[in-house]
Amino acid sequence: MAGVYAGPVQDLIDELGRLPGIGPKSAQRIAFHLLKLSKEDALRLARSIVEVKERISFCTRCFNVAEGELCGLCRDDRRDPTVLCVVEEPRDIVAVEKTQEFRGRYHVLLGAINPIEGIGPDHLKVRELLARMEPEGITEVILCTNPNLEGEATAMYLARLLKPLGVKVTRIASGLPVGGDLEYADELTLGRALEGRREVEG
Ligand SMILES: [Zn+2]
Repeated sequence: MAGVYAGPVQDLIDELGRLPGIGPKSAQRIAFHLLKLSKEDALRLARSIVEVKERISFCTRCFNVAEGELCGLCRDDRRDPTVLCVVEEPRDIVAVEKTQEFRGRYHVLLGAINPIEGIGPDHLKVRELLARMEPEGITEVILCTNPNLEGEATAMYLARLLKPLGVKVTRIASGLPVGGDLEYADELTLGRALEGRREVEG
């Protein structure tokens, strides 16, 4: 489809096509939708992208999104600092928070192990996770990665690294839709999976 439209229109289609889950057809449809928007609406969208890139970064402790050095959850002293919930992406924190079943802190890996896409442990925030254990006095790590192939492989990998450190390592209960993402699970199901977490054997 390259080169059908000239200049800025094609540039926009190309940029949109780089977004996750947007194929060439969707990119084209969104581009033409944006062309029809009022200038005011289009600039508001553009500004919100610029603003998020300028003001928001990742928490230096847990890698959640943060405005400043630490995120709101790391700054909240009412949360139990000894229990850590490990998730793949910042959006998974939103899903866990909605269940109201968890009052500890988080660690975001910023991905999952995926050999096909060449993503290994070194690409994730694994070293940073291990470094938090002793200084923060963590006693339990809940592995809350997605219930799919990559999420399970990541959980098993982390369990092997964490158990020798003397912390309790648990995995959220099965019962979540297999192959799905945490963010698509409803609050009740995810809440039950957290409550029914089991200690990882071995
Ligand atoms: Zn944080």
